[in-house]
Amino acid sequence: MKVGILGGGQLGRLIVLAGLPLGVSFRVLAREAEALAGLAVEHIAADYDDVEAIEHFAAGLDVATYEFENVSVGAVSALAKQVPVYPPPRALHTAQDRLHEKTFFQGLGIATPEFAAVESRADLHVAVDRLGLPAVLKARRLGYDGKGQVVITDPAEVEAAWQRLGGVPAILEQFISFDRELSLVAVRGRRGETAYYPLVENHHRSGILRVSLAPAPSAEPQLQRQAEAWAEGILQTLDYVGVLAIEWFEIGGRLLANEMAPRVHNSGHWTIEGAATSQFENHLRAILGWPLGGTSVLGCSALVNLIGTCPATADLLAVPGSHVHLYGKSPRPGRKLGHVTIRGEEWASIHEPLRQLLARVGEEQLSAGVLAPRPARAGG
Ligand code: AMP
Repeated sequence: MKVGILGGGQLGRLIVLAGLPLGVSFRVLAREAEALAGLAVEHIAADYDDVEAIEHFAAGLDVATYEFENVSVGAVSALAKQVPVYPPPRALHTAQDRLHEKTFFQGLGIATPEFAAVESRADLHVAVDRLGLPAVLKARRLGYDGKGQVVITDPAEVEAAWQRLGGVPAILEQFISFDRELSLVAVRGRRGETAYYPLVENHHRSGILRVSLAPAPSAEPQLQRQAEAWAEGILQTLDYVGVLAIEWFEIGGRLLANEMAPRVHNSGHWTIEGAATSQFENHLRAILGWPLGGTSVLGCSALVNLIGTCPATADLLAVPGSHVHLYGKSPRPGRKLGHVTIRGEEWASIHEPLRQLLARVGEEQLSAGVLAPRPARAGG
């Protein structure tokens, strides 16, 4: 089987690493594919809107997928005329635009923060009056890792926020003082079968995911049921195939949907060691029409991202039980260079190694939240 991947980043790399043992071969279309250098992968170095390159890319593929969601829907739709593309372009179209996405959620009865469309300065003032402050102004398109958004706390900041976003179409969202952030990684196969990993607790700093704890400690079973029921609605409505991630705010025992990513997701990297089947393998199984793998968890896992700089590999490996994944990318501030997963039978057993790891990667400031007392058993 030959799979084409649009995009040459770490998610593509991790998909390839999951597929090689299954005998899958890969072709990647990306201007840059530093994270895939050295892997046995065909690489076409071209832009996604290069029609000739897309044709060349598609020839002989069994299926194509994408590993980041800012690839143009036009390019993906052109590709879909030649080869099956999963997740379906419609999912990409919905996820790329925060207004479409939130409207879609609401149409399915999925709770979200209150929001309003903002096309102009006048709209923004009306929206601020309606939703109140604090609120978050988010560009509708091309936002990721907290980019393209501004928190407004005072009416005097409204004008500056509009300027800062550059006057692009946006949405204004009520600011949620959430208890914590969670995500759900879901997968749907070509025959409509679905599977879900447990909710994961996510810790961000400067808008970038730093740490995930899986399963989310002390999550009420009812939250998992709710997240799965809403995810099922999304998957079936979009006739989705592949892995889908949905990010949530938990507040007062309820979930509010923040956004979805029609791809494998950073908060699911722990599944490589911490679940019966990794999200990367399950994405491939889904898009190739193969049986999905189990999503049950093995104990509990903590995932720590390596951002901007990487400690020496030996120092990371010195943390008991650590599993180190480096992406082969050159260091740059804010860049995801790798991740480390620590897995144990229960939270108590990984508490100390996790504390050491956070210190080694310079994330001590997250320790209080991440290492807050956890119940004795995973997810219990
Ligand atoms: P996003 O790009 O929408 O995932 O937002 C990045 C981060 O900003 C989220 O992970 C939250 O930590 C924070 N954030 C986004 N929207 C809101 C909101 N409505 N209220 C409070 N925090 C938010």
